[in-house]
Amino acid sequence: MKRLTILGATGSVGASTLDLVARNPDRFSVTALTAGKDWRRLAELARTFRPDHVVIADEAAFADLAEALAGEPVTVSAGAAALAAVAREPADLVVAAIVGAAGLPPTLAAVEAGIPVALANKEALVCAGSLMTAAAARTGAALLPIDSEHNAIFQVLEDRSRVSRIVLTASGGPFRQMPREAMAAVTPAQAVKHPTWSMGAKISIDSATLMNKGLELIEAWHLFGVRPDQLGVLVHPQSLVHGLVEYVDGSVLAQLGPADMRVPIAHALAWPERIATPVERLDLAKIGRLEFEEPDRERFPALALAEAALAEGQCRPCVLNAANEVAVAAFLEGRIGFLEIAAVVAATLEAMDSRCPESLADVFETDARARAVAQQYVTRVKQSSFAGQRAAG
Ligand code: NDP
Repeated sequence: MKRLTILGATGSVGASTLDLVARNPDRFSVTALTAGKDWRRLAELARTFRPDHVVIADEAAFADLAEALAGEPVTVSAGAAALAAVAREPADLVVAAIVGAAGLPPTLAAVEAGIPVALANKEALVCAGSLMTAAAARTGAALLPIDSEHNAIFQVLEDRSRVSRIVLTASGGPFRQMPREAMAAVTPAQAVKHPTWSMGAKISIDSATLMNKGLELIEAWHLFGVRPDQLGVLVHPQSLVHGLVEYVDGSVLAQLGPADMRVPIAHALAWPERIATPVERLDLAKIGRLEFEEPDRERFPALALAEAALAEGQCRPCVLNAANEVAVAAFLEGRIGFLEIAAVVAATLEAMDSRCPESLADVFETDARARAVAQQYVTRVKQSSFAGQRAAG
């Protein structure tokens, strides 16, 4: 029986994870569940999955959650410190499925406690990948990727020293074929409508801008220890081939599977074994052909920004991520347009200096400064023609 702590249990990855837990009661039990704000859903999940602990990040939701679970055999706590503390509680696997840099402290806490982590929260690696991989090396905690592309690479990666290239595929998002001018008018409702995957709002917007693929390149660099120039992206609109590894002899190993997150999550949960899932099987004869194309970095500048941040290193990925989180939130709230997401990120990167974060405190300091700068640009976008200038540039 594997005891799981699920950070971000109320989200999309959390739901897919709990679906697999419910289908495999003889294999998995739940030690702890966490959420950001959604205390009602967290209370429901606690009654269904009977964890020992639940934690809600939003302290204002504590009283409601505690009242909803009064009399249940579960400890209830709230706040960032409680989140990190629950991640250190004894468990066989921590599923890191919080969205954004908010997931970094509990994910790092689990790794520092030597607990294997099934990692969906890519922003944690983007912000503090070196700290995370150093802690994993020190404690021996495995980092098992849940992100479908990284899970694919993990499945086909043999001898790292014989790898010539790692390629992550991208669906291209809902605006793959849309002219850039038309993107100026897209709404949040259109942008969250992913053509092949069903996901939370933030990653759906990141997929639409291709920032998601950029964050994933940085994630892959930390996970697989290859040079940045050995990492590539290929647009594959069908989302059936998730990742490819080319070896020095010219062989290319790829992983295919349906676009259902339960496949990579099942792999990470059961690793090193495999478990059955109810997902639809691939029928390649019916699919007929697989399509690939180069990403268009002019229409999707967020990808180029992330590639540059990866190449520059230091704190650039952390700045990129923080600015992107601010810009995506502003877009979802209708405060800026779609094209201005990458523009705000670019302006923030330009405005910030580059330093090497050596501690978690440095990461938080950089993250906070970048958010403040990005917020200023968001305000400026609203007030001036800044957006038009940046988009044109
Ligand atoms: P969702 O938005 O669906 O869920 C996010 C989860 O994080 C929710 O449980 C949410 O709680 C919680 N949360 C939000 N803010 C905070 C906070 N400040 N502190 C603590 N918890 C918080 O996201 P997804 O499930 O789509 O994505 C989760 C992560 O997995 C992301 O990093 C994403 O990039 C990655 N990922 C997701 C994939 C997918 O298919 N969805 C695929 C590959 C990677 P609440 O519900 O209370 O707001």
